[in-house]
Amino acid sequence: MHRVCAWCKKSLAKNTSVQEEDVSHGICPDCKTALLSADSYTHLGAFLESLEVPVALIDQDRHILYANDQALTLSIKNRGNYKGELGGDFIQCIHANNENGCGESEHCGACVIKSSVEHTYRTGENVNSAKGLQEVRTQRGIERLYLSISTIKRGDLVVLRVEEDAAPIKAE
Ligand SMILES: [Zn+2]
Repeated sequence: MHRVCAWCKKSLAKNTSVQEEDVSHGICPDCKTALLSADSYTHLGAFLESLEVPVALIDQDRHILYANDQALTLSIKNRGNYKGELGGDFIQCIHANNENGCGESEHCGACVIKSSVEHTYRTGENVNSAKGLQEVRTQRGIERLYLSISTIKRGDLVVLRVEEDAAPIKAE
């Protein structure tokens, strides 16, 4: 099976210097170093901005501490002050408007973002390209976003990568 890095999409072919362990974890050595070993948030931020997909840093209660420019385009809200928002409020998930907030509605158990972030927190394991569907408010009304989610743990934080996926072909 042809594997690519879940973060930069470079090939994880066996004939490179990529180690077997990294192939199975879905991350290339460059991204692993940048994500896990960047010695300051300035360096980490520079790397996250270099990725051409939405990426965010999330704390253990699923608050967003940092979102790159691509991530900011996922939401229609004024992005002046997003720090500390829950993921569902950030992307304007329709289920974040229930009385208990993001993560607490009957639909949230199936949320791929919540489950991926929580899994990575709990176990320290990466999630590679988990598929899911979010319904979000946009300027055009409520739209469905088909997403591919990757997560990796960095210290007390989870780095979340969000990629828009093509809609699945519906069975008639
Ligand atoms: Zn990579």
